[in-house]
Amino acid sequence: MSEHRTSEETTSFETFGLRPEILRAVAEKNYTTPTPIQAKAIPFVLEGKDLLGCAQTGTGKTAAFALPILHRLQETPWKGHGRRPIRTLVLTPTRELASQIAESFGAYGRHTGLKHTIVFGGVSQHPQAQALQRGIDILVATPGRLLDLMSQGLVHLRTVETFVLDEADRMLDMGFIHDIRRIIGQLPGKRQTLFFSATMPGEIQGLADTILRNPVRVAATPVATPAAAVKQRVHYVEKQEKIELLKHLLDDPSVKNALVFTRTKHGADGVVKQLARYKVRAEAIHGNKSQNAREKALGSFKRGLTRVLVATDIAARGLDIVDLSHVINFDLPNEPESYVHRIGRTGRAGASGIALSFCSFEERPFLAGIERLIRKHLPVAEDHPYRSDRHLGPPTDLDPRRANGVPVLSMARAEELFRPGRMDAFPGRSDGRPGRSRRESKWGAGSGAGRPGHRNTERRSER
Ligand code: AMP
Repeated sequence: MSEHRTSEETTSFETFGLRPEILRAVAEKNYTTPTPIQAKAIPFVLEGKDLLGCAQTGTGKTAAFALPILHRLQETPWKGHGRRPIRTLVLTPTRELASQIAESFGAYGRHTGLKHTIVFGGVSQHPQAQALQRGIDILVATPGRLLDLMSQGLVHLRTVETFVLDEADRMLDMGFIHDIRRIIGQLPGKRQTLFFSATMPGEIQGLADTILRNPVRVAATPVATPAAAVKQRVHYVEKQEKIELLKHLLDDPSVKNALVFTRTKHGADGVVKQLARYKVRAEAIHGNKSQNAREKALGSFKRGLTRVLVATDIAARGLDIVDLSHVINFDLPNEPESYVHRIGRTGRAGASGIALSFCSFEERPFLAGIERLIRKHLPVAEDHPYRSDRHLGPPTDLDPRRANGVPVLSMARAEELFRPGRMDAFPGRSDGRPGRSRRESKWGAGSGAGRPGHRNTERRSER
């Protein structure tokens, strides 16, 4: 029987028996209560057990593995000479997820002296190779770049004690399965493996069976599930009419307060400026604002002095606003998880909340990614004067396995898809522009999606 308490008894992080340096960092993050996945998983990970976690981003799963991993690394410090060996490997499908995970290790491990680094593709490998050269305890990586570095002899995995496979279903969707198997083939047989996936179709279960030993199974729904308490709507609107639509919605007094998300800092400032022209007071928080300015803006919003707060995803991370009536996605996020995070800010603690998303024609692929992630179609708001009818076309196929290996479109890819002359990738367009060939008249055809070799190209671009 475990010396750690079971999940039912666990109401605070202290009861896990985590080391004080880690508890201190947790307290600094203002986490008071473990999320369900943390309560269920941490005791077993501390014991060194393998884990099969059915959980998606938003459940607090990163801390569920990062905290016990940091604890174990500290409990058995590496005492050798020379460069530190890689003792933990976390594989994750995208650079955004890799960055978030690395950031979490940094935050939770800030008092431990443990070192981590991150490798992903699409950027120069030199700084990554240098960081590896210096020696690190924890490596967070996307598969393609890791394999590249391995094949150059810049990294080896012989010393890995704990291996985390994150978002396994998305890895499969993105065509990473062979890369993953090659990487696993280089890991020591004696290791702890933690396997996370939002869904558990047969293929994932099969992979789990081959790499896990007597795993403990835990499942959790996201803290920020698109909860039943949050009413969601999508507003189809042309890009240039978004501001009028926002003003129109804010005219409704039932919008007590609204957190408005834009994709960029510049976009956030633009929304504030344009709303000012309509005499609607709003404030923006983003990375270019000083900490002081951000806190001031947030304070006024929380006290009800400002009704509209415009934020980027990064600035809004960790924002806790108890009484928020509306989340408005002025721009759709290109990472579907961000949608879940964003709308999870309303409808908290049993309150009902409303999440409205503006979707321009160009953002249609992002909407498709979101609908696949949450596995449902968002109801379309019919009753607004700025409704665009350019969005006709077959609905998103919600099955990520039929997404032609492109469950999430990168911004660059979306731009490529929608560059002038390529608009006809979507049928039913009503603006009558020329250039629609028969081959391109099918949904998504002409984009390269689904053609032989495409999957590989997309995968490579992830590096
Ligand atoms: P994750 O699912 O790991 O991406 O975490 C989702 C969000 O929940 C992140 O912003 C974390 O900082 C936050 N979070 C994780 N654990 C807790 C906790 N116990 N209490 C409050 N927030 C948490």
